[in-house]
Amino acid sequence: MISKKTLITRDTFDKLILPIYNPASFVPVKGKGSRIWDQEGKEYIDFSGGIAVTSLGHCHPLLNKTLKNQSKILWHVSNIFTNEPALKLAKKLVASSFASRVFFANSGAEANEAAFKLARYYSNKIYNTKKNRIISFHNSFHGRTLFTVSVGGQSKYSDNFGPKPLGIIHAVFNDINTVKNIINHNTCAIVVELIQGEGGIIPATIDFIQELRELCNQYNALLIFDEIQTGVGRTGKLFSYEHYGVTPDILTLAKSLGGGFPISAMLTTNEVASIITPGIHGTTYGGNPLACAVAESVIDIVNTKKVLSGVTRKSMRIISELNIINNRFKFFTEIRGQGLLIGIVLKPSISYKINKILNFSFLEGVIFLTAGNNVIRLAPSLVIKECDIIEGMKRFYHALEKCLL
Ligand SMILES: *Cc1c(COP(=O)(O)O)cnc(C)c1O
Repeated sequence: MISKKTLITRDTFDKLILPIYNPASFVPVKGKGSRIWDQEGKEYIDFSGGIAVTSLGHCHPLLNKTLKNQSKILWHVSNIFTNEPALKLAKKLVASSFASRVFFANSGAEANEAAFKLARYYSNKIYNTKKNRIISFHNSFHGRTLFTVSVGGQSKYSDNFGPKPLGIIHAVFNDINTVKNIINHNTCAIVVELIQGEGGIIPATIDFIQELRELCNQYNALLIFDEIQTGVGRTGKLFSYEHYGVTPDILTLAKSLGGGFPISAMLTTNEVASIITPGIHGTTYGGNPLACAVAESVIDIVNTKKVLSGVTRKSMRIISELNIINNRFKFFTEIRGQGLLIGIVLKPSISYKINKILNFSFLEGVIFLTAGNNVIRLAPSLVIKECDIIEGMKRFYHALEKCLL
């Protein structure tokens, strides 16, 4: 008898799903911690973390328990009511950040969309309608809605979708003079990733972020940190901005926040929130009880000394293993990032092999991501076990050996 599981294969994707993705040839069916299994029962060590999402690994027992409990109590009531999990999560986010107000949504793009709309609305209301310019950075990524791809600094994501929203200007990341050249009193906001994620794991320098804060103060512009990839423990602090000694006016979170359950949040100050009245923005699912209950558990677990210092320790362990591997192969020119958001920069003569390296890694049973076109990205579980790191790096070594052939 053919088991039900073998009836659906990767081929079905090519027939039925809109071909905007090109998924791996195997189909994961099960995950536990930092390991996942495909339909054939082959096991992989997961350094992709669902693209920096499964912050506590797959099927974390405490998240399973929270989700199961909440699923028996209340799933959804919409925003014509509030609900206890949303209120509890908001309380924890406010208590642990610069912010006083929270807006919940479902994806990173939606949190950014809300942030950009809020920045425009605030400046319209407090100043004038001319103060609507948003400064963003080349190579940045802020999501896939039309507004967020337009603010994003990679035209390949926004070309052929025009007309695009107006009033968006791109400066050069980590180059404050390019910002000084374009900022003026019509600037309503500057939006920046503290580590450019999709763009290639490029950290912002401390000076750059501090100077952006000063410029925003000088021109009455709002500073927006897109921490969708760096937030919730990823860099070894609960929020990456804590490394910079600077607070934003608006912060966006998603990815790690739900540990795999879709949720995002936009955090802001009472001052910025002061112009908001019911009805100017909204979403059906935002603040969904299931999502908020899970996210509250994620915060409870991640926002502990044990997990956050573990991120830094595990990061050092991975980087030292990568350096050992590179002593043998000399494929990497740089290993960069912070905490468990790590980019391995391939040297130019190797970078055309990046997909080959990923595919050989799959064959050896280890999963990585790319970022940009010459960077292998690691964004594993924040609680990945030491033995999984060692085994995963061993498999990576074997994959690179195959690339020599
Ligand atoms: C992933 C990401 C987004 C978009 O999030 P979605 O959930 O895919 O909409 C936005 N900004 C950054 C920095 C991201 O890494």
